Amino acid sequence: MKTRSAIVLLGPPASGKGTQAQRIAASLGGLHISTGYLLRQAVLMGTPLGKQVQKYVDAGDLVPDGLVLSLVRETLAGIEDRVPAILDGFPRTLSQAEALDAFLPPNKVILIELDEGEVIRRITGRRIGPHGEPYHVLYNPPPPGVTATRRSDDREEVVRERLAVYQRQTEPLLDYYAQRKVLHRVSGLGSIGDVFRRIISSIGSDSAAREIE
Ligand code: AMP
Repeated sequence: MKTRSAIVLLGPPASGKGTQAQRIAASLGGLHISTGYLLRQAVLMGTPLGKQVQKYVDAGDLVPDGLVLSLVRETLAGIEDRVPAILDGFPRTLSQAEALDAFLPPNKVILIELDEGEVIRRITGRRIGPHGEPYHVLYNPPPPGVTATRRSDDREEVVRERLAVYQRQTEPLLDYYAQRKVLHRVSGLGSIGDVFRRIISSIGSDSAAREIE
């Protein structure tokens, strides 16, 4: 029996992980799994998980590893093994990465690089559609008729906290995956299409396609 393949997207807030994960999932026939979206939905729906995690999400802090891991495992359990997982926003700590390695070691890890100034500039224009679709008022506006809102954790003070958390907790994953020879670094500057083309040329679309056969 074939095991599932997985691609992980890493990068600071507003680096375009969600947008690129969606594109990669569409081009590979994979499933885009955004832990941030799943957690925000749980908060919105007022589920027991949502009640537990709301204070972390609102403050821009990380939700405890155990809760996020169960969420990812449950989501993966609901899809067939042949469907590649495109993980966006997970893992975010070394212990999440180690836990993931135990059941689904990623074949590729893509780091979308963006400096702090650009992160803050982008986040002011960022909006989110009713199904979690990422938009930007200038670079990727929502189509007519789609109501897109601002994420409550996209306020500047919360964004600064999320950036600090990223540097402290998530950046150590870069060495972790570089040592495993699966890390691909890509600049997040330019248009959505530019970044997508960089990703595809870095991971090699042919080999990515072969891996999922
Ligand atoms: P994101 O949409 O990826 O920016 O995530 C939004 C928020 O959800 C984060 O600021 C965290 O509070 C929480 N979150 C998302 N993914 C994780 C994760 N892998 N581990 C812990 N918390 C997470």
